[in-house]
Amino acid sequence: MRKKIVAGNWKMNTLPAEGVELAKGVVAGRGEVCSCVNFIVCPPFTHLAMVAEALKGSDVELGAQNCAAEAKGAYTGEVAASMLAALGCKYVILGHSERRQYYGETSETLNKKMAQAYANGLTPIYCVGENLDEREAGKHFDVVKAQIEEVVYNLTEEQFKNLVIAYEPVWAIGTGKTATADQAQEIHAYIRKVLADKFGAAAAECPILYGGSCKPSNAAEIFAKEDVDGGLIGGAALKAEDFLAIGKGFQK
Ligand code: PEP
Repeated sequence: MRKKIVAGNWKMNTLPAEGVELAKGVVAGRGEVCSCVNFIVCPPFTHLAMVAEALKGSDVELGAQNCAAEAKGAYTGEVAASMLAALGCKYVILGHSERRQYYGETSETLNKKMAQAYANGLTPIYCVGENLDEREAGKHFDVVKAQIEEVVYNLTEEQFKNLVIAYEPVWAIGTGKTATADQAQEIHAYIRKVLADKFGAAAAECPILYGGSCKPSNAAEIFAKEDVDGGLIGGAALKAEDFLAIGKGFQK
């Protein structure tokens, strides 16, 4: 039985007090959603300590949106994975397309970040996905395959057991365009096959989330697909009601 996960990527949104209110809203409404759904919230770094406090006593888990590639030292402005773990983070999003696109994150950097995450007991939510040109050129399978081979294939079998993948087509992020449920299933199944080529049967246990304009109105159809194990949610994670409603999309 794979974990069902609904993770909220708040990106650079909310002031700390607003973030605390949002987290409290998720905690308050969480009981209306099946306990089989694992909710994760990923606020900005500045909110982590306060949000951790707001989540105390609930099963809503905390994640960060990024971590440094190095363990510690003279890296002005960076935040180490050990610091995130010390604040109660269990997850860290790595390789989000916005980090790849705006901050030049390469597979080389991501390999280091993954190592830092594992060294500090964090579960990476590793993002893959093609842009519009790549999709239109029919290259989406090759793009995600390379993103997996260059990073995930370097993990040990033990590390792989603690990995979440998020498939996020760049053309669907924040655009209101969603992949159809069939498009999501097609590439999720492909991703699982690429994982199985390296990790064998363990690939059947790896949660693969869909991300890209996922909202209450389309979550149920997408989550109903065999190889879709939940969502990484951007915009719709900023309203507790919508975020929780997405969790209610699980009917399997
Ligand atoms: C994201 O960036 O992780 C994301 C899925 O964003 P949105 O839901 O806003 O498309």
